[in-house]
Amino acid sequence: MNTYDSQVAAGILEKEGFEVIAEADDPEDCLDALGKPRLSKGADIVLMNTCSVRDHAEERVWGRLGMLGKEKKENPRLIIGLMGCMVEEHREKLFKRFPYLDLMVGTRHIKELPAMIRQVLETRKQVARIKQDGISIEYSEYTKRGSGFHAWLPIMTGCDKACTFCIVPMTRGSEVSMPAREVCREAERLVSGGIKWITLLGQNVNSYNGRGTGSGERRMSEATFPELLEMLCSIEGLERVSFTTSHPSDATEELFQVIARNPKIGRRFHLPLQSGSDRMLKRMKRLHTYADYKAKIDRLRALVPDISITTDIIVGFSGETEDDHGATQRALEEIRFDSAFIYKYSVRPGTPAALLLDDVPLDRKVSRNQELLVAQRAITEAKSQSFLGKVFTVFVEGRNSDNPKEQIGRMDQDRRVILEADQDYVGQFVRMEFTGLHHETFRARVASSR
Ligand code: SF4
Repeated sequence: MNTYDSQVAAGILEKEGFEVIAEADDPEDCLDALGKPRLSKGADIVLMNTCSVRDHAEERVWGRLGMLGKEKKENPRLIIGLMGCMVEEHREKLFKRFPYLDLMVGTRHIKELPAMIRQVLETRKQVARIKQDGISIEYSEYTKRGSGFHAWLPIMTGCDKACTFCIVPMTRGSEVSMPAREVCREAERLVSGGIKWITLLGQNVNSYNGRGTGSGERRMSEATFPELLEMLCSIEGLERVSFTTSHPSDATEELFQVIARNPKIGRRFHLPLQSGSDRMLKRMKRLHTYADYKAKIDRLRALVPDISITTDIIVGFSGETEDDHGATQRALEEIRFDSAFIYKYSVRPGTPAALLLDDVPLDRKVSRNQELLVAQRAITEAKSQSFLGKVFTVFVEGRNSDNPKEQIGRMDQDRRVILEADQDYVGQFVRMEFTGLHHETFRARVASSR
């Protein structure tokens, strides 16, 4: 969602005559891009799009703001802005703690960025637009995408679940869905511009209801999520539809059936488990037990044998014992995820879990995290090795910037593939035989075009 927001911000700013001179995804790249030589070469504005999901992400932004404060002492004309969830979470505190911060824009006001920057330029006063209600998704024809073939498409945002560890309901607000006809209209517009692969976005796409985005225009449901998927699959020229993220309690048989009968739907299903212990799941208020979760995965795998299942795991949540940790270890071995994002729990102030004791010592969080990472790495490696020598469909997205002889693609299971071929396949779905594996990237050669 943040990637999409950044693309919208960059596109709108360029349309209004601003020039984007550096973009960085990774915090370390950010440091390089924001380093002094670059700034003094002419950046007038630095915008950071922030995430509040983990303490670690926030810490990095605090550090970066400190660095930018020093830069501003030498270059008082520099405009420093913050976007994203930290703005929603910390609001006024940010202006007080960082008086040199010029602007803050909430997740629902990105289109106002150019006007806000102009206001700062004219008045040199701090300006903020942060409001949680109202329209939360707006499609922009000026979105600046990294790919000419793939687009992110938010269909809903916010969340009405109340997982005790999670800051999202506070930062992104209550659930709102885009009406289905608007999603389809936007998808058709994207396809007419050359997009072939769309990834639908939402905090919990499974609870999509198509009821509209503004409080004054809530209607009867236009479509469920499975119905929306079917509508999108019928769009000519749209070759692949993926989505993220799902919630186990809303992932239904109807959804699995739709995935099974639509080859256009990507073969990766990301379903956060969070813990293998029912006691922890209850403390997290996840609304599912391990047995519920496992039954859904078994059903999905039975219906869609080539589906890749990925997950999120939190280690060291409040009250987690060795037994709870053991249950998560067993879950990894039993389900054998294709990959898993495994994080140490960090308290998010303001969440229900912030009232619980954060009683797992850091060294235990670190060791449990390591144990799960090692176990999952072995599973991922074994699964990846089993792909070698087989043929899969891969979408070729572009050339490798480090080695233009190589073409880069993604398979239906959303894994990265490097293709060595003389012929140009960029923009095509190609059947490829997998010949090698380096870290998590496959190497492949063309088997036969589809
Ligand atoms: S469903 Fe996801 S976004 Fe919603 S509260 Fe739970 S973890 Fe957060």
